[in-house]
Amino acid sequence: MKTLEIPTFECETGNYHTFCPISCVAWLYQKIEDSFFLVVGTKTRGYFLQSAPGVTIFAEPRYAMAESEEGDISAQLNDQKELERICLRVKNDRNPSVIIWIGTCTTEIIKMDLEGIAPKLEKQLGIPIVVARANGLDYAFTQGEDTALAAMTHRCPESNHRITDQEEVNTAKVILVDTAPNNNLFGQKNKLTKCNLVLFGSLPSSVASQLNLESRRQSVSVSGWLPSQKYADLPALGKGVYVCGVNPFLSRTATTLMRRRRCQLIGAPFPIGPDGTRAWIEKICSAFDLKPEGLEERESRIWKSLSDYLEILTGKSIFFMGDNLLEISLARFLIRCGMVVYEVGIPYMDRRYQAAELLLLQRTCEKMKKPMPRIVEKPDNYSQVQRMHELQPDLAITGMAHANPLEARNIDTKWSVEFTFAQIHGFVNARDALELVTRPLRRKGDSIPGCRNLSKQTVNV
Ligand code: SF4
Repeated sequence: MKTLEIPTFECETGNYHTFCPISCVAWLYQKIEDSFFLVVGTKTRGYFLQSAPGVTIFAEPRYAMAESEEGDISAQLNDQKELERICLRVKNDRNPSVIIWIGTCTTEIIKMDLEGIAPKLEKQLGIPIVVARANGLDYAFTQGEDTALAAMTHRCPESNHRITDQEEVNTAKVILVDTAPNNNLFGQKNKLTKCNLVLFGSLPSSVASQLNLESRRQSVSVSGWLPSQKYADLPALGKGVYVCGVNPFLSRTATTLMRRRRCQLIGAPFPIGPDGTRAWIEKICSAFDLKPEGLEERESRIWKSLSDYLEILTGKSIFFMGDNLLEISLARFLIRCGMVVYEVGIPYMDRRYQAAELLLLQRTCEKMKKPMPRIVEKPDNYSQVQRMHELQPDLAITGMAHANPLEARNIDTKWSVEFTFAQIHGFVNARDALELVTRPLRRKGDSIPGCRNLSKQTVNV
């Protein structure tokens, strides 16, 4: 994959607000139905886990804390024995198909050998134990999912895709079989190219099926998802398997898939916004040597249906403080909607994994005749607030820590965390994404003159 040189990258101090990456358990336990997540660390994480996922804690979630005590930290207690006791209880109470240990800052600092203990206990208890180091020392928020998925790639079965050297040259062109039962569903097409395509990234099942359907429309069948709904259904990986990410924060998973499982990565922009979704599908089609059909019309139809929101957004300016790594894709989508993006803060920027997305961002700026935003890696929130005072953007995408203070200083805000949980992928969800962005702008008209409404973030029910 080519690395793209964009001169406007900057790097600051990394003094910014974000969620701890262990928060990924809140959505991953719901996605992988037969899993159990065990967060190993001190009380701080317990408090965080109790407050961040809200009411779900009352629904007997399949996650828990293995709370370290004085004795654990000073090594008076035996780590393996303690974990064995807890995992045995989890096994008896919940009988999960897999236990995922989430390492935290504490386990890093006291050098608890989770990777060493896991295989021993796995044998003893007869239940797979996956270790993911989702700690706040190394990662931010959504990267927690990245560490968990990267750890899971090692548990995927080996694909038995056997091809000769000659075939390997034409891998993409090979296999035309599997005529779909209701093959006139999508018009003239009646063949489904049986591709070894695995998509990675955790999305709600409805969104995952929508993306499956999009690729089916192009005659590409998706052979599996990482993560799968059930641990037992993890997709087969190996040589000859193509993989494509649906989220920009999965660079570690992508690297592991390529280097350790010898999969072929399709480097594509991410399916966020109609422009991103089209580019994403086109890239997949090109990997399999297929000509995409009807995508252009489909994209323009979606844009037309968004016209009421585009009217609100055109010409408005926006500032991303940066905390969840979705920023580049969202900025690109919003520039295409006619907005001016002043700054894109981002916790971590993998230029190789995001190369196609960055290229699309650059092209979108050229097309829309908008300036290229300043991209700030590891931002410094204090300096960002100063810059915001100067620039006075119409909207700031920010965490909860800064939202109300900025509102009180006359800058409209949108909570960044909502983009992580809302359904924003694919053609059909473009409207939902814009619904989120435009909400504070639409409410501007509703507020009483001279009185800032600090509860603008309240979600409509
Ligand atoms: S960032 Fe580290 S110290 Fe903070 S809650 Fe997460 S794991 Fe614990």
